[in-house]
Amino acid sequence: SSVLEIKDLHVSVETDQGAKEILKGVNLTIKQGETHAIMGPNGSGKSTLAYAIAGHPRYEITSGQLLLDGEDITELGPDERAQAGVFLAMQYPVEIPGVTNANFLRTAKTAIDGEAPAIRTWMGEVRDAMKNLRMDESFASRNVNEGFSGGEKKRNEILQLELLKPKFAVLDETDSGLDVDALKIVSEGVNRAKENSDLGVMLITHYTRILRYIKPDFVHVFVAGRIAEQGGPELADRLEAEGYDRFLVDA
Ligand code: ADP
Ligand code: MG
Ligand code: MG
Repeated sequence: SSVLEIKDLHVSVETDQGAKEILKGVNLTIKQGETHAIMGPNGSGKSTLAYAIAGHPRYEITSGQLLLDGEDITELGPDERAQAGVFLAMQYPVEIPGVTNANFLRTAKTAIDGEAPAIRTWMGEVRDAMKNLRMDESFASRNVNEGFSGGEKKRNEILQLELLKPKFAVLDETDSGLDVDALKIVSEGVNRAKENSDLGVMLITHYTRILRYIKPDFVHVFVAGRIAEQGGPELADRLEAEGYDRFLVDA
């Protein structure tokens, strides 16, 4: 099974005032089959970490490394990282006018596998995955995320996750803005992906609520661009009770 290693990662973004360092030395190792919750206050750099792993061009890795099974993927483009088995569910999924969801999924699957999926089994797979996520069939022929509600966009991210079958998934606040029913449906989708393809998960969240449905093996407290503390699931309970204040004082 595979290992994703984040080694002393420093990441900057370009702003009007010049380059600003957001990530200040992140170290984390995720094995396939493990679930790591990343919890931290707004603005601490969680999404920056997600984008840096996925290879967003705006987030420059100034030092440190990303290794997949010991291979340096730090310089790879986002498409190559996806082919290597890294998936990102975005905090704010992007609308793609003019591209239907069905076409998008098929194109992404083809790009990642290096060959088009067999048409008969693929259609069934898409239909089943949509049914599991309680998505109406009409979402296949609608443009990607266009006019989708917040919750529908998050489900659509998990639909991609289930169909693209990556080795590692970064889920950036997939729980935000979901009501309890949608949260359960989305969590079941993630858990199916974990069971079916031994997925390694980085679950970024503000809230402990989702951790009732997706059980983390490890919890990391993320503050001011680095991991401030790590522990097991009990750390999440402590955060729920105490909040992040204790860590903010130290930051
Ligand atoms: P989180 O996801 O934990 O809320 P982010 O990674 O979104 O945090 O943001 C961390 C910090 O980096 C914030 O201060 C944010 O304003 C800043 N930042 C992130 N992306 C950009 C960007 N593209 N341009 C300027 N500042 C950014
Ligand atoms: Mg945020
Ligand atoms: Mg964020």
